Amino acid sequence: MSNIFDIELAQRHPFASSMVSSAINSQRLSHAYLLSGRALEDKWSFARQVAAHLNCANRPQQGDSACHLSGAPEKDHCVNCKWINQGKHPQAWLTLTSEGSKSGKIAVEKSRLLSDELSKHSEFFRVVVVEDASQEAFHRPSANALLKTIEDPGSRCLFFLFAAREDDVLPTVVSRCQVVPMQCPPEKPTALASAILKTSAEAVPLTNPELKNFSQSVEQIFKARDSHLTLHALDLARQIQIAIEEVENPVAVLDLATNLEISRVGERASVDSVAAGYLSDLLSLAEEVKLQIGHYVSSKAAIETFVLSWWRLRIAAGC
Ligand SMILES: [Zn+2]
Repeated sequence: MSNIFDIELAQRHPFASSMVSSAINSQRLSHAYLLSGRALEDKWSFARQVAAHLNCANRPQQGDSACHLSGAPEKDHCVNCKWINQGKHPQAWLTLTSEGSKSGKIAVEKSRLLSDELSKHSEFFRVVVVEDASQEAFHRPSANALLKTIEDPGSRCLFFLFAAREDDVLPTVVSRCQVVPMQCPPEKPTALASAILKTSAEAVPLTNPELKNFSQSVEQIFKARDSHLTLHALDLARQIQIAIEEVENPVAVLDLATNLEISRVGERASVDSVAAGYLSDLLSLAEEVKLQIGHYVSSKAAIETFVLSWWRLRIAAGC
């Protein structure tokens, strides 16, 4: 599986990055992603890194990463990566903004021109950013001129729409996008880590007795140590899914699963900064998936992405 994002960005937004990475790696990319939240700079980087990945000319095989992630100096990057990272690739990188408009609204004419442009053939994978998709800027007439294109932009075109909150965006636009929260990263470790460590030695209180079986299955999965790590992750995803359906309370199920892991690793985390970092990352990941779950009719994809990211962290930390 290739890396799409640089490590810092992926660590700040573990859920968003693993969700889009697995969509790209499994060739199931949506036409449009609505990046919600206030991390504006990170959203730009996120969209640029996807565009570079899809257009890198020095990526010999499907599973390789784009050349701009290779650590080589910028002069050695391919021209597509270079231009996209500078935000000036004439065909692969397109932006729709309200620039030049006194009202702050995106001109309808600009939406029409973009729609025309995207209907033409291009040898590049075109990535379009709508910098402010709130209805203040991307108002109904502009949005209407582009709705059909957002819904079906053709196979080699991808939209990223930015908005502080999903509710700021016209429902007709939201319904055509996959919503991906990108909050500013939460304050991490110290306070969090010490809170973890205080409770980690104690048994995890079972607030919901119906989750007793779930708790036992999770502990068994945690104990299993053999080569089938991905199988265990998928098994855990399935158990979480079943438990959520039974108790209809995703937050309680996710809290229980992460608390069990905290009680298992907590003691080690008090003396090992790698393990402490792992628990801290796991908690951020769990917070993101809680936000994410509400956006889906089915939580299956969100849970699987969560558990697979969790397992990657776990393996990387040797926990
Ligand atoms: Zn490249």
